[in-house]
Amino acid sequence: MRQRIRVAGIVQGVGFRPYVWRLARELDIRGWVRNGPDGVEIQAEGSSGQLANFLERLPKEAPEQAHVEKMVLADCPVEVPGEKEEFVILDSVAGKIHTQIGPDMAVCKDCLTELFDSRDRRYRYAFINCTQCGPRYTLTRSLPYDRSNTSMAAFPLCPDCHREYGAPADRRFHAEPTACSACGPRLEMRDAAGEPIACPDPVAEAVTRLRRGEILAVKGLGGFHLVCDARNPETVMRLRVRKAREEKPFALMLANGASLTGCAKLDEQEAVLLHSQTRPIVLLRKHPDCDARFPGVAPGLAWIGVMLPAQ
Ligand SMILES: [Zn+2]
Ligand SMILES: [Zn+2]
Repeated sequence: MRQRIRVAGIVQGVGFRPYVWRLARELDIRGWVRNGPDGVEIQAEGSSGQLANFLERLPKEAPEQAHVEKMVLADCPVEVPGEKEEFVILDSVAGKIHTQIGPDMAVCKDCLTELFDSRDRRYRYAFINCTQCGPRYTLTRSLPYDRSNTSMAAFPLCPDCHREYGAPADRRFHAEPTACSACGPRLEMRDAAGEPIACPDPVAEAVTRLRRGEILAVKGLGGFHLVCDARNPETVMRLRVRKAREEKPFALMLANGASLTGCAKLDEQEAVLLHSQTRPIVLLRKHPDCDARFPGVAPGLAWIGVMLPAQ
């Protein structure tokens, strides 16, 4: 039997095609998967038992960030035996777009591990990502979700990245924004006039300047973050003057959950929200020491907005 399956929902940019590919290979299903204007389109061929198994598991075991809203099934003619014996990922088809792109996602655990592993080729590479994390909405110019339709089109893959992109067992199999220090975008620092500041390590330079009380604008997912040292009342006040924001609270960005001690209290549900991959600002009840530690950040309020870094 051969069936056409149209899957609608958040199914592009979440590792859905590689997932379908792996599931089909595991169940010995032949056919293909591709991105299309309505979501993901699959043709699957196998025995009725294989297909039933495939259709049952397809929505259930989908990647965490995917959201299958609808699966529309139709029978289609079986391919000539011997042809297309495999399951493959086909090029996307364009058209009038009805599908949805997922949100930007904070760096995942696997990427964080690589980021801080000095033997890894993406050691300290700021734009690290994979099929389970990284920018989506921010860099997608049009759909279907392919590299050529994202702002990463300007960065052709190096041989190493290209190999990972084409390797089904790799976490970066069809990871459209994948990059490394050899082929991807790089960090740089600019002054207020937009002129590049020469520095060997922009991250170290940023930390030095923040400690010195400077205010930085960090370009990241979704736009710019204005960043300063929240423990420095003089800098926080300068930011208020520049933003013409007398009392309205700022949000605190913390390195991780452990930094919450003496800042805010957190129940289980709030912890889940805070750590979720969309990295929202979560309103938390202030700890009694909060205002003393972060003077002027959220003055006169019992609550404080807290977030974890996305990148
Ligand atoms: Zn990742
Ligand atoms: Zn590369």
